[in-house]
Amino acid sequence: MPEPLSGASREVLDRLRLLREADAASHGGRVLSYVYDSGLAELDELAAEAMRLVQSVNGLDPTVFPSVAALESDLVGFAKRMLHGDDDTVGTVTSGGTESCMLAVKTARDVWAAAQISGDPATQRMIALRPRIVAPTTVHAAFHKAAHYFGLDLDLVPVDDEGRVPVDDLVARFGPDVALVVVSAPSYPFGVLDPIAEVAAAAARYSIPCHVDACIGGFALAWWGDLPPWDFSVDGVTSISADLHKYGYAPKGASVLLQRDRDRQRHQFFAMARWPGYPVVNPTLLGSKSATALAAAWAIVQRLGTEGFAELVASCRRSTEQLRALIDGTTGLRIVGDPTGPLLAVASDVTVSKRLRVDPHHWADRVAELGFTLQMQPGFMQANGRALPRTTHLTITPVTERMLPELSDVMTRAADDVRGKTPANPKLAVQALRMSGALGRELTADKAQALLLRFGVGGSQRRSGGATSPLPSKMAPLIALIEQLPAEFAERLLIEVLARQSEPPGDR
Ligand SMILES: *Cc1c(COP(=O)(O)O)cnc(C)c1O
Repeated sequence: MPEPLSGASREVLDRLRLLREADAASHGGRVLSYVYDSGLAELDELAAEAMRLVQSVNGLDPTVFPSVAALESDLVGFAKRMLHGDDDTVGTVTSGGTESCMLAVKTARDVWAAAQISGDPATQRMIALRPRIVAPTTVHAAFHKAAHYFGLDLDLVPVDDEGRVPVDDLVARFGPDVALVVVSAPSYPFGVLDPIAEVAAAAARYSIPCHVDACIGGFALAWWGDLPPWDFSVDGVTSISADLHKYGYAPKGASVLLQRDRDRQRHQFFAMARWPGYPVVNPTLLGSKSATALAAAWAIVQRLGTEGFAELVASCRRSTEQLRALIDGTTGLRIVGDPTGPLLAVASDVTVSKRLRVDPHHWADRVAELGFTLQMQPGFMQANGRALPRTTHLTITPVTERMLPELSDVMTRAADDVRGKTPANPKLAVQALRMSGALGRELTADKAQALLLRFGVGGSQRRSGGATSPLPSKMAPLIALIEQLPAEFAERLLIEVLARQSEPPGDR
């Protein structure tokens, strides 16, 4: 039995509860991104208890805490069977999709570098080059981050209007400096299953490793049914990432990275015996780490088993099909491409007259007023000049099914309410910025904040008890601004928005 809490401790928890009231609801199906609700309350209780049991463990060293190794071994084993790995498939539980993707890139970079060193003199010249990652434009931002952190170039191949990458265009970029090709199962922005078998086969001919980013799709597509092969059953696939904290329904902090063979995976590790302290050996980026998400993910996977997962995925599939049909039947909206899995991207249907079109961001803002949060994705200009439309993203989870009647009504009503409304266009504001010369200059934190205030973002961050949001109530104009600004400038402003969120209040 846990110790009863003192009044002072209870008071601290009350303050935490108050702060939590300002958060989006992580359960109940009203937020269709970021959170993955199985709809099974018991799973949350199970996870909470599992986390408590390992609360004080240090996941850094499984030789001291063997439970950590046992939990990880079970989870890797489950993922390996799910993804049709074999006896040479090994893996690691990481802190999330970003870490899994980063480690896949780090591994590929080090395998590539080792091959250059041991290679013949002709190929050794390559080591002077920066290695390259080849991927479709729709690859997750985590690969931009990995390229940035680990010193590789990310060579992006444009996709067509449906979010599909032509295999030949990808293969045309292959060469001796390519350390990794990445495909997605499916891609986050449009839910497209990349042509994995074709790309992996071509990559194998060039001896280029192929990573399948199944961070979002892994634990859903495995039970989706009638799909082309996309996992380790495809020759040439060398690693796969799949997030436990997405369709594995675990609390945040758990993902798996599987690698096709031991020798390749050993390049993922970092070991250090050249310092006076304890010998360090880390399979992941962190040193000391919590085992809480690992234990929670383990408990949930044990409890659900393949049958439990299959049932939850079937629910996601039914809801996805219904919502897809609803949007297809809504004048002025359309689904982008032919998505695979529980993700939908909704764009404006530009084949109808302007007065019938529904801007997906005005729509999402209206849907939010009516009680559901959808995720806006800005329009995007690819390197070949081909624009990808602004969209609104839906992540469908098992809990969606019980919300379907209300969600469907809200989506239809919101479309009716904003149909014909002109899309936000901050061209004048951006022009004014350009004229003022601000776009060319390095922004100080204060200057960035001043600009944000001018755009109606930011403001007083002072909070007490329930937090006040510094973001505008309607997000469409802000996302439109991100679309129009030069990317580096937009990124700098985004940094300012986030950095200011958690600044302690000053005396001013
Ligand atoms: C979510 C996601 C990631 C990154 O995962 P995080 O858990 O958010 O770090 C990578 N790739 C894809 C396709 C994703 O959907």
